[in-house]
Amino acid sequence: MERLFLLKMVFINKSKVMEKEFERGHHWCRGRVKGFGFRLTLGRDAVLDVLSRTEDHLSAEDIYIRVHETYPAIGLTSVYRTLDMLVNIGLVYKFDFGDGRARFELAEGPKGKDHHHHLVCTGCGRIVNYRDFIDEEVALLKKAEEGLSEKHNFAITNHLIQFYGLCEDCRNK
Ligand SMILES: [Zn+2]
Ligand SMILES: [Zn+2]
Ligand SMILES: [Zn+2]
Repeated sequence: MERLFLLKMVFINKSKVMEKEFERGHHWCRGRVKGFGFRLTLGRDAVLDVLSRTEDHLSAEDIYIRVHETYPAIGLTSVYRTLDMLVNIGLVYKFDFGDGRARFELAEGPKGKDHHHHLVCTGCGRIVNYRDFIDEEVALLKKAEEGLSEKHNFAITNHLIQFYGLCEDCRNK
């Protein structure tokens, strides 16, 4: 069976994401939003709250719908702006899984409990989060990060890994 994977690694600049242990929940986010000199508005808190409670990769519209249940006064534009800001300061990741809608999730560094990689099915759009990394992957990443740090004199603090391919259901079609 032919399997094609694309390995995508994004290295986040240290000035954007501080080397800090992330805690579960979004309380750590609050401090960091303030740490970047932004006020933690109701809208920002509400968006972080939605993101911290889900395993899914929500679109801005999905987030808006969930925020709206609790805070009807917060509009879609405000959710867009909030997401932009949170992505800019490195608290939230924005993904393009190839279905034309941006997806968001809380950024969590390699030492965070929720740190995971993605298997993206290009057939049905399913996204598998996995945390049980195989030894080969851990070793490869460690080696790559060490080599890159040295070559570019760059302190790597995080990465995003996505493999694209077809899930079992799509392969059996
Ligand atoms: Zn990782
Ligand atoms: Zn599939
Ligand atoms: Zn994810």
